[in-house]
Amino acid sequence: MNLLALNWKMNKTPTEAQEWAQELGGGLQVSNAELAVLAPALNLPVLATGLPDGVAFGAQDISEHESGAYTGEISGAMLKDVGATYVIVGHSERREYHGETDADVAAKAAQAQASGLTPIVCVGEGLDVREAGEHVAHTLGQLRGSLENVGADVVIAYEPVWAIGTGKTATADDAEEMAAAIRGALREYYPEQAEGIRVLYGGSVKPDNIAEICGKPNVNGALVGGASLKVADVLAMNDAL
Ligand code: PGA
Repeated sequence: MNLLALNWKMNKTPTEAQEWAQELGGGLQVSNAELAVLAPALNLPVLATGLPDGVAFGAQDISEHESGAYTGEISGAMLKDVGATYVIVGHSERREYHGETDADVAAKAAQAQASGLTPIVCVGEGLDVREAGEHVAHTLGQLRGSLENVGADVVIAYEPVWAIGTGKTATADDAEEMAAAIRGALREYYPEQAEGIRVLYGGSVKPDNIAEICGKPNVNGALVGGASLKVADVLAMNDAL
């Protein structure tokens, strides 16, 4: 089953999250994918009680530390305690605006696993790298660094930075090219589990392109930003899968 991972980014107050969850509950008949809402941490307690049964939720970042004197950080134990199951790590916006390196991302992913959460590890190239034809080597390099000492209970999200929030979607073939390359690397890192590890595509996924992209053999779902905010779009994407 595909994973439809909804990245709200820095959107929705707890009140709005509650309304969204209720609306989803009213509209969702059958889940054609595993749904997971990745929300600002402050919304998680609301989602824990408000989402329909079977819809998972999680956070968009996690501290690489277990606990202690790290003002402003949120630990894996806190996320786990409210019922989160997933956490995004290494989103390109965190890499770009907060200077997160591959080593930081790997440490966060390992901490997520130590806390009983499944990290969704994001990788992907910028436009300059794509235009230079170096996107596969670049992304696999990022993947290697971001999975250092990370176990196999992981989801990978390939998100070409030039396709995020721009309306410029990679073609389904572009998504498959990279997903297949990522699968090859996963076979090397996790020979036993590689076939079962989900590889998602993210970047301007919408109701009208999700089926084609997720229909590719190595793509096992999508990480969706803009189109995750309206319940109608989420229902349409679920229907399309
Ligand atoms: P987008 O964002 O769907 O708005 O392009 C995807 C993401 O950044 O996860």
